[in-house]
Amino acid sequence: MRIAIRTGTLYDGTDAAPRTNVTLVVEDGRIARIAGSDEPTDAARTYEAASVIPGLINSHVHLEVNGEPDTSTFFLLRTPVERTLDAARNARLALEAGVTTVRDLGGSESNAIALRDAIARGEHAGPTIIPAGRALCMTGGHGAFIGRETDGPWDARKAVREQRKAGAECIKLIATGGVLTKGAVPGLDQLTEEEMRAAIVEASAHGMRVAAHAIGTSGIKNALRAGVTSIEHGHLLDDEAIELFKARDAYLVPTLAAVWRIFENVAGGAQPDYVVRKATEIYHQAGDNIRKAYRAGVKIAGGSDAGTPYNRHEDYAYEVELMSTVLGMTAQQALTAATSTAAELLGADAGVLAPGRPADLLLLSGDAGADVRALREPRVVIKGGAVAHERA
Ligand SMILES: [Zn+2]
Repeated sequence: MRIAIRTGTLYDGTDAAPRTNVTLVVEDGRIARIAGSDEPTDAARTYEAASVIPGLINSHVHLEVNGEPDTSTFFLLRTPVERTLDAARNARLALEAGVTTVRDLGGSESNAIALRDAIARGEHAGPTIIPAGRALCMTGGHGAFIGRETDGPWDARKAVREQRKAGAECIKLIATGGVLTKGAVPGLDQLTEEEMRAAIVEASAHGMRVAAHAIGTSGIKNALRAGVTSIEHGHLLDDEAIELFKARDAYLVPTLAAVWRIFENVAGGAQPDYVVRKATEIYHQAGDNIRKAYRAGVKIAGGSDAGTPYNRHEDYAYEVELMSTVLGMTAQQALTAATSTAAELLGADAGVLAPGRPADLLLLSGDAGADVRALREPRVVIKGGAVAHERA
């Protein structure tokens, strides 16, 4: 079916100047052409929108969790079937909120993998999913209750092969402690540089990209030297880490919402004390550090760590807002981080609106390049050239 969209302002997902008063013609899942506003289109249906942007890409989610205040305990009490149902619902909610691609960076069984396939077959509503399978962590490390514990380079390679066998498309490594695991110290190293290098060599052989959870300064640098494609969080980075990011051409996925949502909801009293304590320490350093990295030219890709406390899959717009307010990006730069830059990181054919590219796009009631809050509640979500969600 041919769809036409007439819009006042088109942001193509890059930092290029927006085009005004254009008509996008969508056909066979792709953008057929971008023409003038009065172009006849012969379309079955014509939409109007104040602005149009690519579908959002969330580079860091956990589909099996929903933002419960005590995420780890919730997860442990959930049955495998309940996790499957949660993941399917979160995928649908994310899509309805305008997220058309996600990278799932760690789950329990093969939920995100099976869901990817079901969505691709058209059996479930949801974004395109790029799953990591289970995260690789050291024995007793951050996320050990959910991840694949691994020790030593050869076992790390075997753990990568296991994720690939299960259907994963990328790999997640745990380089430092984290906030949501009791007893894990975010500032301290976990997997060694040697273990991570072995995992990366193995993953690369199969064309899989590698993301590392790294909050502490030393672990960030270990992961960068080992050769990861992206650092997730990166909150305690220093000047030497910034140089390593640039020398290795690595991406930083700042997941600001994960920290900000915990900090904003401390008064509710529902989060474990250890979570509040660790997140508060990070909160007071993360904004300055990541802003410094951004200003120094480190590539920032949007990702929210959706599923962590009060950080819901349908709330990715908040991460985009934080990239603007905390890091000092313009609204359009924040959109770019959440679309084309994220697509580059993931190696996904998405995130840019141009003839021949997939028709994943959002119709907004306001101008998202003027005010990033226009991202909230997109009026129409189009994925793969079909209307996935429409608000009255
Ligand atoms: Zn995460």
